[in-house]
Amino acid sequence: MSLSRWFRSPRYLLALFLAIMLVLAATLGWLGWRLLEQDRALESQRTQERLDNAADLIAASLLHTFSDTKDQFTRLLASSDPELAARTSALAGQAAGTALLVVFRPQDVDAYPPGRLLYYPFVPTEKEPPAKAFEAGEVSEFQQRDFAKAVEVFRELSHSQDPAIRAGALLRLGRNLRKAQQPRAALEVYNQLAQLGATPIGGLPAELLARDARCVLLDELKRTSEVKGEAATLYADLHNGRWKLARGAYRFYEQEASRWYTADAQLQAHEEDAVATASAVELLWEEWQRIRRGEGAAEGHRSLWIVGRPVLLLWQARSDRLVALVAGPGYLERQWVSPLQPLMDRQGVSLALSDADGHSVLGQLSATPPRQALRSSAETQLPWTLHVVSRDPGAELSQQRNRRLLLLLAFILSAAFVLAGSYSIARAITRELEVVRLQSDFVSAVSHEFRTPLASLRQLSELLADGRVPSEERRQEYYVGLRRAGERLYRLVETLLDFGRMEAGARQYRFELLQTGTFFRGVVEEFAQEARERGYRVEIAQQDHLPCVQADREALARALWNLLDNAVKYSPQSKTVWASAVCQNGQIAMRVTDRGLGIARHEHRQIFKKFVRADSAEAAGAKGTGLGLTMVQHIVAAHGGQVQVDSELGVGSTFTILLPSAKE
Ligand code: ADP
Repeated sequence: MSLSRWFRSPRYLLALFLAIMLVLAATLGWLGWRLLEQDRALESQRTQERLDNAADLIAASLLHTFSDTKDQFTRLLASSDPELAARTSALAGQAAGTALLVVFRPQDVDAYPPGRLLYYPFVPTEKEPPAKAFEAGEVSEFQQRDFAKAVEVFRELSHSQDPAIRAGALLRLGRNLRKAQQPRAALEVYNQLAQLGATPIGGLPAELLARDARCVLLDELKRTSEVKGEAATLYADLHNGRWKLARGAYRFYEQEASRWYTADAQLQAHEEDAVATASAVELLWEEWQRIRRGEGAAEGHRSLWIVGRPVLLLWQARSDRLVALVAGPGYLERQWVSPLQPLMDRQGVSLALSDADGHSVLGQLSATPPRQALRSSAETQLPWTLHVVSRDPGAELSQQRNRRLLLLLAFILSAAFVLAGSYSIARAITRELEVVRLQSDFVSAVSHEFRTPLASLRQLSELLADGRVPSEERRQEYYVGLRRAGERLYRLVETLLDFGRMEAGARQYRFELLQTGTFFRGVVEEFAQEARERGYRVEIAQQDHLPCVQADREALARALWNLLDNAVKYSPQSKTVWASAVCQNGQIAMRVTDRGLGIARHEHRQIFKKFVRADSAEAAGAKGTGLGLTMVQHIVAAHGGQVQVDSELGVGSTFTILLPSAKE
């Protein structure tokens, strides 16, 4: 085939169509992939925007709370001393015991709510009696070692009007009674001393000294359970800030109490919190000294990391006073972050705070969050770095994955649709091409079929017309030849017309009760007569008393004739064909057998389709239209029967018409 013809051929068009469809499917796939990529980028951008937006809102809100607190501090600083105490107390009350407010003055430190500060960075010294007041007693005690005398002197002094002298005397009295081996009397004296409460002795509260001395005494007296009880209450009072102590004193007496009492884990953790707060207050005190020297900023905030805990300091100072908030994570959580909860819920985010050294102040800091918005303290003017992350990144991810999967599925489906569509169109085209080919074969076959009888008609009629027939006998022969050719043409035309009617669904059958044996023999013998002239022999075998069938005589005869004709046509070597009719399983079987070309197994079904011819027939050059078997099958099906083929290539074929026998 030349190139230009090939380009116009249906096969080229088919290839072109398939190529276009393939390109279309590939483009669709590529577009889908691009869309997925874009969707992913868009989604992550959207998430980032949401986080950024939430981070800005949170930062603004926290800053607002900060400036509110600062305003309150400004008002506190401006108020008078009694007012300051009352207001600070009230403010600390609002903090619900989760934070500490401290007020520094040059010679004083106050903490609110009271009893929450373990120890103080500065404890003012109160005026105490001169040491001379106790000189006489101490000479007896230490130089003469006359404890009885010393007891006398100090007992005298213990009735003094001055509580400071009374306290000093009672302490010394107790000590001397102990030395004088009168522990019970000493215990009694310490009890009295304890009544004097915060009265200072050498800068320490009388009560603290008395209770510690009682513990020591009880221990010496081996009154174990009592000493444990006393130590426990001493520990608790120290812990609850009953006295204003400096750090050294607090530590010393806490250790004293711990000699007889061990705090449980919960209390210890609580104490660690309190130690963190107290240490932060100490640092703040140092800061204040700097502020007073003009070195520090009068207003500020800082997030500290003390004993493994975050502490927030927020302060404002004047030359003569400083007000500060000292808060742990609990306060931050309750007072500042909780009000943000609705906002965070709406945005589906959660918040974590970290200090300048990267310690986690609040919330969980994930090492590698899938996506987060960071706001540094430099940006926000807050003491922390804000980390805003999606609350449920897993759910978000799976949502995204699902959407992507859906999109992918849609694309796969459309691509599959395009491919399946193209495949079926291509198949339809191939089939049409095949039909076109078969039809053109059919036309040439039909022309050929017509040509042979027409040629005989022309030849014989010419001879007869010209009077060139030598004898009457020969003339008679020619007439028979003319009749055969006519009949063949008639059958051919009838076949084509019948086929046309069948295709249009307009073929009508006229059923009648047929004597099968008579009918079968009639058709086969008529065919045998014609076949004899073509040099063939037909052997008939027929069962006696065959049941009748309901059939259209003419149609059934044509079907049988077709099979017989094929047997002869496709049996060029073996000149005998066999026809038999039997009754088996209540069915009539009419069989036509030959020892001819045979049909390959894979073509057994195909040959019943219109225009289809077996390769063996084509190879042998046998002519035919490919319509005969189609019609046979149509006719037999209309009779409620079926056609069977049993054939082997090069061996021969048997075609069987099976018909239901008529009920009498
Ligand atoms: P036609 O004989 O006009 O070609 P048919 O529909 O009668 O059309 O038969 C279809 C094809 O089946 C034939 O072309 C032939 O290849 C094959 N065939 C039918 N009968 C026989 C047979 N007895 N032996 C071998 N091949 C046969």
